[in-house]
Amino acid sequence: MTLKKLQNIAEKLVKTYCKKYNIEPYSVKVKNLKTCGRIRYQTRYISIPLWAYEEGGVEFFTAYVLHEITHFIRYHTCRDNTHGTNFHSLEKKLLEMHNMVPIKYRISFYDELEDINGKTLWIASAKVREAKGMKPYKLKI
Ligand SMILES: [Zn+2]
Repeated sequence: MTLKKLQNIAEKLVKTYCKKYNIEPYSVKVKNLKTCGRIRYQTRYISIPLWAYEEGGVEFFTAYVLHEITHFIRYHTCRDNTHGTNFHSLEKKLLEMHNMVPIKYRISFYDELEDINGKTLWIASAKVREAKGMKPYKLKI
């Protein structure tokens, strides 16, 4: 999978959900970041880290884009930019429309992603956990 193909996937997803939720277009850029992605509500911009693809293939990459999409839907429909229960419900709904199920929700992110048959698509690695500001697995929280 090339960067250009991933960029196209991200653009298509963002475009689809902007239209569906009647939100003015956002631009999206897939970038080689060490950190997690960003969202700018004022300039309507999101960035997606390339490591999302490296970590979990096209499925997790898609899930990552859907996470940022959930943010802007919540922001523009409810002025909510938190990772609360309503955020989780909407993210879950979007993931399910793409045949994915998040497992073990923490505050801002889930620990695992499965397909609808229960097959593991992605498990948070130490690298991802660090970039997301999550605690390492070994610590009980
Ligand atoms: Zn988030």
